[in-house]
Amino acid sequence: MKGRKLLMIPGPIEFEPDVLHAMGIATTSHVAPNFIEVFGNSLELMRAVWKSPKGQPFIVAGTGTLAMDMAAANLIEQGDHVLVISSGYFGKRFRDILDRYGANTTLLEAALGEVVSLEAIENELKTKSYKALTITHVDTSTGLLVDPKPIALLAKKYHTLSILDGVCSVAGEALHQDEWELDVVLTASQKAIGVPPGLALLMASEKAIQVWENRKTPVPNYYADWTNWLPIMRAYEERRPSYFGTPAVNLVVALETSLKIICKEGMDKRVKRHRSLAKAFRAGIASLNLSILPKTNKTAANTLTAIYYPKGIDDLAFRSKMASDDVIIAGGLLSEIKTQYFRIGHMGSVSASDLVAVLAALERTLIALGHPLESGKSLQTFQKEHLKTN
Ligand SMILES: *Cc1c(COP(=O)(O)O)cnc(C)c1O
Repeated sequence: MKGRKLLMIPGPIEFEPDVLHAMGIATTSHVAPNFIEVFGNSLELMRAVWKSPKGQPFIVAGTGTLAMDMAAANLIEQGDHVLVISSGYFGKRFRDILDRYGANTTLLEAALGEVVSLEAIENELKTKSYKALTITHVDTSTGLLVDPKPIALLAKKYHTLSILDGVCSVAGEALHQDEWELDVVLTASQKAIGVPPGLALLMASEKAIQVWENRKTPVPNYYADWTNWLPIMRAYEERRPSYFGTPAVNLVVALETSLKIICKEGMDKRVKRHRSLAKAFRAGIASLNLSILPKTNKTAANTLTAIYYPKGIDDLAFRSKMASDDVIIAGGLLSEIKTQYFRIGHMGSVSASDLVAVLAALERTLIALGHPLESGKSLQTFQKEHLKTN
């Protein structure tokens, strides 16, 4: 298509045509029977994607940051100790949000490109009684993937709530909320869930709901308070009309469409597709002698890749040349090295053909900017690697 651009940033992503069509339907009342059905279905489908049959889902108008805010506002009280396990920009954002609610936060972070070790986490959990810990599943600023399962186990061992920022992972990376006993897993619509920006999505465990019910002080945030939202979620699930704040009707219709597409593919297959595409993509990148931020393949995300520029490549020139080649990518986000790397999102309905197009544009751009390379090399490497797993 003439002028068609590929949006390959880590959110918003390329959306399925059916999801975009769903956005365009005539807006109904938020208590119309058909919309109550759509909302109820969406809550039920979330449980399948999160693998949390026992969880309490929340769908609220807002961004991923609101979902983080909601977890902090409802679960934390003045003076609570919270351990923030950070692997980049969004770990620090969680600390800032928790601090705002009066938490006593401790930030654990590793050297750039590495994730915090389990040993360091356990040593810290031993020092005092932590109310909660937070994990960033995939930190979008570094492309680092953290395995939440053993950390959730540690949280359980030390009677600590586990909160997972899954904004860049839910519906892309492996997740078994109930089996792993994660207390909160939150995300936003515009990332791997595949819906235009505007919805905060959160799943709370029975234990998280109990901790909220047993608060000594009221939730100090009116909009985020589960007291307002829990009856609404329960009503929609029981297919009853209700109102607190007007839901984002068209976005919820689009959410149901996308969740159906996700469940039709199946979460296990979807995770496998993300893994095999990401692996082949990283092989293509490595074949051009480019390095990624994560120091090991095991800690490299499957939803995006963060790549260092080769010496002498200017960030702005690179990204504008890519854009004129119809591939939109993201710059760096980590302030210390902001102009030294770029990020490519590959989550949601991404295909092998999309990634071949990205690698081709990347090679052309590097050549145009005077960086020598053997043209076609990354395409061949990607293709070979991808054929191995498919
Ligand atoms: C994008 C992102 C956020 C913030 O989401 P917004 O919708 O931009 O508020 C938080 N955490 C992670 C890991 C993200 O990727």
